[in-house]
Amino acid sequence: VQKYIKYHTNCGIKSVLFKKENKSGGSKLIKKYFLLLQSDNRKKADGELFRHFQNLETNKTIYTMKALIDRILKDGKCYEGGILKVDKFINHQMDPNLMKQVAVELIRRYASTDINKILTVEASGIAPAIMMGFLLDLPVVFAKKKKPSTMSGMLSTTIFSFTKQREYTVCISKDYLTPNDKVLFVDDFLAYGNAAKGIIDLCQQAGAELVGMGFIIEKAFQHGRDAIEDAGIRCESLAIIDSLNDCRIKIRM
Ligand code: 5GP
Repeated sequence: VQKYIKYHTNCGIKSVLFKKENKSGGSKLIKKYFLLLQSDNRKKADGELFRHFQNLETNKTIYTMKALIDRILKDGKCYEGGILKVDKFINHQMDPNLMKQVAVELIRRYASTDINKILTVEASGIAPAIMMGFLLDLPVVFAKKKKPSTMSGMLSTTIFSFTKQREYTVCISKDYLTPNDKVLFVDDFLAYGNAAKGIIDLCQQAGAELVGMGFIIEKAFQHGRDAIEDAGIRCESLAIIDSLNDCRIKIRM
């Protein structure tokens, strides 16, 4: 078994690949994982970009992204029914620089896991997912909200959207989600966890391993995390909203 190390200098990530040579002279990838380079610069950048605090009950350190929290407080808008609009930097106009920082932080959190694919749902999950796929050199698959007439062999599930107050079907081709896949799911929001439950179902149908789920913003008061953790899946989010009552954004920090 040969060990290869690849540096992704644009985001301070090191990937370690283990390849086994076969008799025909080729090689097969048998294991891959990512590490974050802890240079002085990186530590300095961490201090500026991220806040971390200790939960005194669990003794766990929780990281939140300062740049993201500041942006939500500056440009986020509250709507009736517990909806946060972030159209200025995530859902309509997008900030690629912030999106890169989001991708780097999610990669950092899942650095020690073994993944071979990034999974998301169209449309708003595609931006963070493609950033992560680009930085890690991994393919990105998005679940489609409309079944293409040309695609057979689809896995599908129904999801209830509370922002649109209706059910919709999402599907993924069996060619792109298989029993060989170890996937990391990423999306813009975690609310009631309906989209997450749909993704868990699709991964189960495909026989793929869902290594973890990562969200840019979690609205903790809608408790979507429970369904994910009850299914034994790791859940990470970069900004946690505790309440949107009285049109005021209360962020955990
Ligand atoms: P869930 O399925 O967890 O209830 O909701 C997650 C999905 O609904 C996300 O993919 C996101 O697109 C959308 N969503 C949920 N809450 C919000 C919100 O407050 N603002 C926006 N912009 N989208 C939301």
